[in-house]
Amino acid sequence: MHYDTIAAISTPMGEGAIAIVRLSGDEAIQLTSRIFRSPSGKNLADEPSHTIHYGHLIDPSTEEVVEEVMVSIMRAPKTFTREDVVEVNCHGGLVAVKRVLQLILKEGARLAEPGEFTKRAFLNGRIDLSQAEAVMDLIRAKTDRAMNVALNQMDGKLSRLIGDLRQALLETLAQVEVNIDYPEYDDVEEVTIPLMIEKCSWVSEEIDKLLRTSSQGKILREGLSTVIVGRPNVGKSSLLNSLVQENKAIVTDIAGTTRDIIEEYVNVRGVPLRLVDTAGIRETEDIVERIGVERSRQVLKEADLILLVLNSSEELTEEDKRLFEATEGMDRIIVTNKTDLPRKLDFTEVENLVENPKIVATSLMKEEGVDELEEAISKLFFEGSLEAGDLTYVSNARHIALLHKAHATIQDAIAAAEANVPVDMIQIDVTRTWEILGEIVGDTVQESLINQLFSQFCLGK
Ligand code: GDP
Repeated sequence: MHYDTIAAISTPMGEGAIAIVRLSGDEAIQLTSRIFRSPSGKNLADEPSHTIHYGHLIDPSTEEVVEEVMVSIMRAPKTFTREDVVEVNCHGGLVAVKRVLQLILKEGARLAEPGEFTKRAFLNGRIDLSQAEAVMDLIRAKTDRAMNVALNQMDGKLSRLIGDLRQALLETLAQVEVNIDYPEYDDVEEVTIPLMIEKCSWVSEEIDKLLRTSSQGKILREGLSTVIVGRPNVGKSSLLNSLVQENKAIVTDIAGTTRDIIEEYVNVRGVPLRLVDTAGIRETEDIVERIGVERSRQVLKEADLILLVLNSSEELTEEDKRLFEATEGMDRIIVTNKTDLPRKLDFTEVENLVENPKIVATSLMKEEGVDELEEAISKLFFEGSLEAGDLTYVSNARHIALLHKAHATIQDAIAAAEANVPVDMIQIDVTRTWEILGEIVGDTVQESLINQLFSQFCLGK
């Protein structure tokens, strides 16, 4: 396939030692050679693939120097996009990199859309859709483990697994056709139905295994959405601060929301905690007061983990009890803070409020108990099983939804087979499962979805 030549700034906007403008397409090398001058007068178009060259970019109309650069040229097909790729390394800093990009665009390249480089890698068959999505996960990975999961997926591990399942379904369908076409030996149904049940059950079990990794995979990828609740003055912001300080927070502003939610990511023993609404805690102490009852219910509902803070130097109040009610049934850790003060809190009363309570005592003032809390968090979600770790984690919401759908469809096929429904009816479900699994790797996926997926990428990727 041939597409036009695209270009974009591939490094983050801001000041840095170097910045990279990347080009991809048939014209990439020719175009760059027209605006590149090396001290020895070499022509980039004559240089071998995968080489890097020092020189200057010039404005061809005036021969004026625009920037001092190092230019890498990589010829198709051994490149990220499978097209000719050029990377222009220029000085970091907004002005330099924008000047270089503008010069390249003026010379005939088109500004790339977000994710277009990766999209081309997909369209040109270098990677499948799940691998492309892993590229995005890799960029966004907040912890080493999340990065490993993404690397694994980029490497094609999930794709191969899905490929095996689809192959098994295809072979089953083919075998069924053979049985129908050559029914001389046996009764068709008698041979075909048990075969279908056996193969479909295997596929169903494998999908199930993948789905079992999904809750952990999703947490690794998106972070464990964590809300700290407690009445004023119990020590919520102290807790937040000590989690953030010990674990180096990554602060992200979420654009496009009506109010600014500020999220902070902290890496707690490999578990990325996404601390939600930290601004609420810091500014007004009371998340309900700040964002209203409805909204805070919503925040609570979406949370994966609640840290409910109590003051152990005071008796349990009605307000405390209301917080217990509001977070009923959720994963909760109860933090009884201020253990350095004389204790007034009745622990049995707390234990009676919660089934199977997880309580950690802290004195945040004395920096005690935070380790135990972190231990409790990682145990609650991973029970050590993550360490075992050669699993392929399914972490992407789109993949999870499709796997659920595939699982339901193959279950329909099994149920139909067991009920002795005519074979051609069962074939429909099996074929449908094959298609749904194909959507994960992008084999049977609609163009509009592809465009939408890649548009979520950052510019220049
Ligand atoms: P928030 O309103 O729930 O966010 O509570 P803060 O974290 O702002 O803490 C309220 C007050 O309690 C502050 O003056 C803290 O210094 C104090 N505090 C926090 N943790 C402890 C603790 O473990 N022991 C004692 N004695 N005081 C604490």
